[in-house]
Amino acid sequence: MTIQRQLDPTYCKEWVSEVYTHHQCQRRWVVERDGHRYCHQHDPEAVKARHAKRDAAWDAKWAEERAVTEARAHKLATWDVLYEALKAVEGSYPLLPNEVYLQLIRALAAAEKGLP
Ligand SMILES: [Zn+2]
Repeated sequence: MTIQRQLDPTYCKEWVSEVYTHHQCQRRWVVERDGHRYCHQHDPEAVKARHAKRDAAWDAKWAEERAVTEARAHKLATWDVLYEALKAVEGSYPLLPNEVYLQLIRALAAAEKGLP
C-alpha cells in the first residue's frame, strides 16, 4: 500500500527533507512556473540563478588556485634549470671562484626545498 501525499495548493510544491522525514515546503507560493507553484527559495529560476552564482564563485576560486599552481610549477622548473646549469659549470671554467658557485648552488637547493 502506498501513501498518497496531497499537496496543499496554497503552499510551495517542493518537498523539504529533514533527518527522518520530508514534508511539503511551508512557505506560501509566490510564483507559478509550468503549472507548479513555488516560494521564492524553491522557484526554479531562483535556484538556477543561485547555482550559477555558486558555480561562478567556484570557477573563480579554481582559476586562482590553478594560476598559483602554474606559477609554482614554473618557479620550480626555473630553479631546476638554473640549478643544473650551475652544477654543470661548476669547476669547468671558473669565471667566478668555485666557492661562489658552491654558495649559489647551496642557496638554490635550500630555496628549492623551502618552496611550498
Ligand atoms: Zn518552497
